[in-house]
Amino acid sequence: MNKISFGTLALWLAASLTPAAAFAAEGNPQVLARMAQINQQLRAMGLNIAVEQIEFFTIGQGRPSNRIHAQEFRWVANDPRRLADGENITYLVDQSDGATASGLTNAQTEPAIDRAMNTWQANRCFKKVDIVKRADSGADPDIFDSFFGFGQMGNPFLADIVNAGWLPRAFFEAVGGPGGGRGILAFSVTFIFTDNNDVPTDINGDNRLDTALNEVYYNDTFGDPNNDRAGNPWQIDQPLPAIDVETVALHENGHSLGVGHFGPPPNAVMNPVYAGIRHSPLSTDSSGMCSVWGSWPK
Ligand SMILES: [Zn+2]
Repeated sequence: MNKISFGTLALWLAASLTPAAAFAAEGNPQVLARMAQINQQLRAMGLNIAVEQIEFFTIGQGRPSNRIHAQEFRWVANDPRRLADGENITYLVDQSDGATASGLTNAQTEPAIDRAMNTWQANRCFKKVDIVKRADSGADPDIFDSFFGFGQMGNPFLADIVNAGWLPRAFFEAVGGPGGGRGILAFSVTFIFTDNNDVPTDINGDNRLDTALNEVYYNDTFGDPNNDRAGNPWQIDQPLPAIDVETVALHENGHSLGVGHFGPPPNAVMNPVYAGIRHSPLSTDSSGMCSVWGSWPK
């Protein structure tokens, strides 16, 4: 974090957003302010991308969605800016942060994430799109953590979706604000493309902003024997009070694929609060997903 004050930031926010966008931004004011600050830094770096949405998946108390624009965003088939693999959507699992304080190895967490991706691929909504895994080359594939001092500025276009692994509790406290470190299991952050005037783009004219990349981060405080979440360890296929990796990955990558929160009830994959193992989407989940992908690739 640099030294810009919250007050300065709020003034900057008010001055820099268009009236329509300012009216539409919704979520936790502190989280939105951090998003605006990161976007200012991305502009300073000359990158035509901006943080658009952060969705927190929690245990216990839920948290609001944080979103800059009312207008929806979508992946654009064949988008050269993100080095798109044609009409496929690509994902990558960052193996360097795949082990957990609860004792899981990357050899356990990565297949759980793959199973979640395979579940979405098998869903009826994905008849027209292939979800393709890219190997972890060892290069840093993520960027969002760098704005909070928890990693370097990686390459944002190694894959469309990056499951960035398990990061320290303090990162989640920094991103989510007070209580975030204890309550947030994971979050999904979506970036959109902007033009040289910092205006979001819609290059394919579908009336949606263009998704640039998505990153998913998991909170390593769960199951850390040295803290107050020791009793809720990340595990594979274990019921509450354990936290099931595949269930959380299915939820988070649902965001990566373009679906927001709804409910509860019913107790669907895309509810914002963890409620135990769920490895299969409900019809409500599929309806949301089909509305996003039904018109693919246009
Ligand atoms: Zn969520």
